[in-house]
Amino acid sequence: MFFVEVILPLSLAKTFTYRVTEAEFHFVKNGMRVVVPFGKSKMYTALIIDKHQNEPTLYEAKEIDQILDEKPIVTQFQITHWQWIASYYMCAIGDVYRGAMPSALLLESETIISQKQSVTIEEAELTDDEFLVYQALQHQSSLRIQDIIAILNKKNVFPVIQKLINKQVLVLHEEVQELYKPKLVRYVRLHSKYDLNSGLGDLLESLKSATKQREIVLAYFQLSAKDKQPISVKQLVETANSSSAILKALIEKQIFEDYFIQEDRVNFIGNPQENTLELSVAQQEAFHQIQTSFTTQEVCLLHGLTSSGKTEIYIKLIEEQLASGKQVLYLLPEIALTTQLVGRLRTYFGDKVGVYHSKYSTNERVELWKQVLEQSPKAQIVIGARSALFLPFSNLSLIVVDEEHEQTFKQVDPAPRYHARDAAIVLANYHKAKVLLGSATPSIESYFNAQSNKYGLVEITERYGNVQLPEIELVDLKDSYFRKKMTGHFSTTLIEAITAALSLGEQVILFQNRRGYSPIIECLTCGNVPQCQQCDVSLTYHQHKNQLRCHYCGYAMAKPTQCHSCSSIDLATKGFGTEQIEQELQAIFPDAKTGRMDQDTTRGKFGFEKIIDSFKNQEIQILVGTQMLAKGLDFNNVSLVGIMNADTMLYHPDFRAFERSFQMMTQVAGRAGRSEKQGKVVIQTYNPEQNTIQQVTRNDYVGMYKEQLYDRQIYKYPPYFRIIRLTLKHRDFDKVKEGSMWLYQVMSQNLTMPVLGPEEPPISRIRNEYIRTILIKIPQTVPIGSTKKTIQKMLMSFEAVPQYRSIKVAVNVDYY
Ligand code: ADP
Ligand code: ZN
Ligand code: ZN
Repeated sequence: MFFVEVILPLSLAKTFTYRVTEAEFHFVKNGMRVVVPFGKSKMYTALIIDKHQNEPTLYEAKEIDQILDEKPIVTQFQITHWQWIASYYMCAIGDVYRGAMPSALLLESETIISQKQSVTIEEAELTDDEFLVYQALQHQSSLRIQDIIAILNKKNVFPVIQKLINKQVLVLHEEVQELYKPKLVRYVRLHSKYDLNSGLGDLLESLKSATKQREIVLAYFQLSAKDKQPISVKQLVETANSSSAILKALIEKQIFEDYFIQEDRVNFIGNPQENTLELSVAQQEAFHQIQTSFTTQEVCLLHGLTSSGKTEIYIKLIEEQLASGKQVLYLLPEIALTTQLVGRLRTYFGDKVGVYHSKYSTNERVELWKQVLEQSPKAQIVIGARSALFLPFSNLSLIVVDEEHEQTFKQVDPAPRYHARDAAIVLANYHKAKVLLGSATPSIESYFNAQSNKYGLVEITERYGNVQLPEIELVDLKDSYFRKKMTGHFSTTLIEAITAALSLGEQVILFQNRRGYSPIIECLTCGNVPQCQQCDVSLTYHQHKNQLRCHYCGYAMAKPTQCHSCSSIDLATKGFGTEQIEQELQAIFPDAKTGRMDQDTTRGKFGFEKIIDSFKNQEIQILVGTQMLAKGLDFNNVSLVGIMNADTMLYHPDFRAFERSFQMMTQVAGRAGRSEKQGKVVIQTYNPEQNTIQQVTRNDYVGMYKEQLYDRQIYKYPPYFRIIRLTLKHRDFDKVKEGSMWLYQVMSQNLTMPVLGPEEPPISRIRNEYIRTILIKIPQTVPIGSTKKTIQKMLMSFEAVPQYRSIKVAVNVDYY
């Protein structure tokens, strides 16, 4: 008898054994997908990770239903890496598999399918089965796998669906609709009836009396002689020093024709610039130090000021790898950053850059997956957010983790709750690849690892072009309110600085950390604040839609006209978010063009790009935003950054609050003055003397590091202790309270290390589920593997208690 061992895309820790025929056994390889029945009537796409002849003893192996692949689509490197993630982060291998694969490669019986809009289908090219599915979708907008099984009257429908997805006929239903189309740029070319190499004499002759038009044509020849890049309308009109009306006349005469290209695709067309990048002396030195460090160490931390030109150093390092045909992975904390970076990298590497992140459709992700698998030159460099770590690399030589301190590298929910930086280091190890971590404000952990020689350390202490760091001015809010030097939330100092910047045609960024400081509605008579019915939080006021909304579960209601508690109509808004800041701003600077960047204005695939584009193009003068602004965006005309209130970040109940505040303030401040002129930063705070704020002002990273390190040792936190956080959830308040107490007691009796809790978190109910947390602190000196085994055992005995079985427990290793 012949068997395969498979992973199912379910939260199951075990692998499962299925039967195959002898012929199938010889055909299949690890890393191929098979469709298997599971449970009563469900079908799943499973992954083969082993083949053998050992019959399972506990159950009777079912037969597989279908083999989906002709060759492996998952590499052995990936399987090993996924097993490491499951074991280190204490989750099911099925969770990792499900999280790693683009959903189009993971059809299951629940999947809903619909027809792709706005594509023309060549009906003749469909097989009979494919046509039947296609036809059914002309009558109803979506189908379940079950429906398709009925329509085709057979069980094995996954291959048909997969083919239809590949042929762009079908899409999975969950795909987000694209709301914003990427910006199209208008280009011109000579009408197809002309040929650049002949007959131009005639053309110019015919324009002899139309001098202005002739000038445009001449400018066009000039530009196209220089390089083969497409010529935009704007560029042509500017070069000819002409007007678009004259160009329009030429288009009407059919001498030129215009066409559009999506802005982010432009670099695909031309050749990448002959490498014009010259490193400065400081960059050159850092570059060599990194290379030297790589001869003895696997990981190097590049600690360089904001705007010191770290990206250019990454580019040089990548360039070295390309010649050898190896693959490079470039991880970013935030997909919002990809457009800017992809643009920068494509200038050097042309079409060798692939992009991978969750806002891409599953078809786009499948395409990149295949390119990486085939080691296609089109995906030799992959830029992506943390999930790019799961791609089928077979030949990695370098992983860059940019802004390595960012907490978005840690996945919170659902499992696997992995840290992409740490998982990248493990992945690199399998490939014998090097890892470069980069940041202006490294995480305490990474800097500690560098200090203790676990990582190499390279520092750049000057900005590129010797631009000065911005001058930082602190405004004492207590004093300003007392002296009535405030207009709304704006101090006179900040208003004057904005006025000065605007008068010079410079741009301004205002930073408002919205978390924990959202606008709410309060009754002035009884003090009632409307709460979410399902979560333990106040509803947030959104003026734009005149709604109250819950940021945790999405619940929304119209803004009440009277208090639900005492019926008073005296309601007032309290607290301030980005929206209110923007509104006050418009009142103070009625002529300035303002924009806002936060979770509400950046929905949709191109939400970020839209705002970043308009700020870059200077259609927006003052940009108000949340933490998204802190992440490595490069704007050259920003001379002023205002931090509306530094205190909200500082006093978060979290052991990383000071570290994060330092990072956030230093990073937003770093957006100011990136070209010749020194920039300015105004920080408004009630505590100008507070240590972290002082450290930001002095750009004293090491001071911050030492102070925090000292605290971490005393209070038993990373890097001295590893933190595992258990989160228990249930709709029954008493049950979760008792259950968490039970688990806490068992844990503290069986572990010889600090166990804290069970704690009621600041937000102790979300979507009607009550929450308790338990924190386990494992000293670095204790082997983590055996501790995890003990924890796992206790979790199993917890599950075995009948009344606690329904409590959900989430394990977060290296809680961030
Ligand atoms: P960082 O990532 O360290 O904050 P960047 O890589 O964004 O810094 O560089 C800051 C600015 O300086 C960017 O506008 C970049 O284009 C420019 N720059 C950096 N190095 C060079 C170089 N060697 N040649 C030309 N421009 C550079
Ligand atoms: Zn809610
Ligand atoms: Zn009231």
